[in-house]
Amino acid sequence: MSVRLRFGALEQAFKVCEETSSTESRSKLFHENVFNEAAMQQALTKDAYKSVLQAIHHGAKIDRKTADQIAEAMKGWALSKRATHYTHWFQPLTGTTAEKHDAFFEPLENGRAMERFSGEQLVQQEPDASSFPSGGIRNTFEARGYTAWDPTSPAFIYGATLCIPTVFVSYTGEALDNKTPLLRALHAIDESATAVAKYFDKSVSKVNASLGWEQEYFLIDKELVKSRPDLLITGRTLIGHSPAKGQQLDDHYFGSIPSRAMGFMRDIEEQSLRLGIPVKTRHNEVAPNQFELAPVYEEANLAVDHNSLLMDVMEKVADKHGFKVLFHEKPFAGINGSGKHNNWSLATDTGVNLLSPGPTPMRNLQFLTFFINTIKAVHEYEELLRASIASAGNDHRLGANEAPPAIMSVFIGEQLTHVLDELEGVSEGKLSPEEKTDLKLNVVGKIPEILRDNTDRNRTSPFAFTGNKFEFRAVGSDLNCAKPMTVLNTMVAKQLTDFKKQVDKLIDEKGLKKDEAIFNVLREYIKSSKKIRFEGDGYSDNWVKEAKKRGLSNNIDTPSAFAVYSQQSTIDLYEEMKVLSAIELAARKEVELEEYTMKIQIEGRVLGDIAYNHIIPAALKYQSLLLENCANMKEVFGAGFKEHCEFQLEVITKISERIGVMKTEVDQMIEERKKANKIVDAEKRAVAYCKKVKSHFDSIRYQSDKLEQLVKDEMWPFAKYRELLFTN
Ligand code: ADP
Ligand code: MG
Repeated sequence: MSVRLRFGALEQAFKVCEETSSTESRSKLFHENVFNEAAMQQALTKDAYKSVLQAIHHGAKIDRKTADQIAEAMKGWALSKRATHYTHWFQPLTGTTAEKHDAFFEPLENGRAMERFSGEQLVQQEPDASSFPSGGIRNTFEARGYTAWDPTSPAFIYGATLCIPTVFVSYTGEALDNKTPLLRALHAIDESATAVAKYFDKSVSKVNASLGWEQEYFLIDKELVKSRPDLLITGRTLIGHSPAKGQQLDDHYFGSIPSRAMGFMRDIEEQSLRLGIPVKTRHNEVAPNQFELAPVYEEANLAVDHNSLLMDVMEKVADKHGFKVLFHEKPFAGINGSGKHNNWSLATDTGVNLLSPGPTPMRNLQFLTFFINTIKAVHEYEELLRASIASAGNDHRLGANEAPPAIMSVFIGEQLTHVLDELEGVSEGKLSPEEKTDLKLNVVGKIPEILRDNTDRNRTSPFAFTGNKFEFRAVGSDLNCAKPMTVLNTMVAKQLTDFKKQVDKLIDEKGLKKDEAIFNVLREYIKSSKKIRFEGDGYSDNWVKEAKKRGLSNNIDTPSAFAVYSQQSTIDLYEEMKVLSAIELAARKEVELEEYTMKIQIEGRVLGDIAYNHIIPAALKYQSLLLENCANMKEVFGAGFKEHCEFQLEVITKISERIGVMKTEVDQMIEERKKANKIVDAEKRAVAYCKKVKSHFDSIRYQSDKLEQLVKDEMWPFAKYRELLFTN
């Protein structure tokens, strides 16, 4: 079946490629469909443009009259690009994006009509919110929710629709989406990091967090996927025997990109550039049919929007090219899963990367300050960082021998470890002139040199320093980056706030100079956060033992990872940083647990269906064929037929045995599911799904994969791993 499909699909792909490949240079495409600052400057009056810039860069409010002007300009621009509709575009807690399109068109009297778009429509909308998860917030407070314009992320045209990035909140102001807490966290990190950056440069007035994500994904032939209810419904294969050749040869990684996938990538890249997503690199990944796409990093809020948008574009473009794109963290057992590295750093409005050393000792002390505070923050909130990336899909990946473990740790490399060891020896209180000089010349002064040849890369660390940024590698490929970015920025914001207080106290009360005070506080942080630093092999069993000794958490599944959301220290952190209220936090926990339960529930149902309605009937059919053969043999050979039927009889027996075990396992799983469904408490229900329902999946799969090896190839009802993974 695969060969025929393959040629059909190739033809289609080339056709699509010819149709879509643009002859224009890529830089000309960039921002073609974005109402960016340049487009606004052109379309707006000077005053209106100024107030938009104030809103974008300083969070200023936009008045009614200006909003009307902006809406009018936006409409004119959108119509000139042939847009017919507009939508508020937001990211509800389901993790995807949501939109409700309205036409600009409005009929008037006398059969006339016009296009209308007001400031009010730009600024606020009321989508039918009842079908989005709220964790009970809407029941407790107001029944309605509304979306509100986020001017820091520019409007864009997607298809024929003007999309306006918005937040989604309840009428009483509680966050119902992923963007609201992210914006609050980015505000918190701006305030605290700016205050600390001013120690080193008074002219800094704003700090932006930046994010550069790397999106991994699988591209699978659409027609083959159609035969697989598991891939179609759950995004991963629930059964499937490993092919003779998997990824053992590692020959796919950085190999030449297959031409059909290349056609898809070119199309994606052109569409992304038009939407302002600065995609830059593409390559094959480790597993067959696995690829990666990464843009140039951007301000974190924009980068998060761009990742969500890109995932949506990818699904649509893949369909056009005869593919299904898989974002699931572990679509295939025994084959590498997919992640989404989040590269993160902090940059000032004076153009300085705070996680990058510079030409002066002061700049390097600044680097050390932000570097050590980040390590300390991960140390304090490692469990929360783990929770920020927990999902049913990522549970298959973390700790599964090829991905970062579920244990959070920080890798900084040998040379920076050496620097921290030296700083640990700094004297308490005032420093002697000799010590200051020594620090300046031999420790701090050497940092740029050290980092220039810091090639030491540890691929097994979940959180690694990579020269001028931290790379959070444990993020799942399907996750909305807003989640880890909210947590990371919140905890670093809190850490920097504490740092500033401690430094100021030493200056005010102990009369220390600023740099002495900074060295003193950093020294204590280095000492107290040591256990979070790990330079060894994060995939090894030894690390699991070692981490346990150190007292680090190792929450291997989502329900246990989410427990941290209820801890007082988490509630305090979110409330102090004004990122989430206790109510919002509890609601979020409930929504995420519910989502987890639902995913496992759906997988369980699909697996039951696959076993009862596909696998067992196929095995029985083959068994009947063998039985028929045996009957015929008996007719021909009489009593001695058995010696001619050794294979047949063995397979017949094995099939019966496998079917028997499989049926028992499926029945038990269904029983457990029924029991779990009766549990009212969301947390306990999720635990039951995790421990009692999901635990049957592997044994059902095991029987199915054994049957796959027994049953005649053409009678097997699903596309096999070999077809899914090696058709391109
Ligand atoms: P890899 O991890 O695959 O080796 P690189 O180290 O070259 O790749 O960079 C990965 C990503 O890091 C890129 O998407 C890039 O845009 C991003 N990046 C580079 N500098 C920064 C920064 N200062 N802040 C955030 N992301 C950054
Ligand atoms: Mg990377």
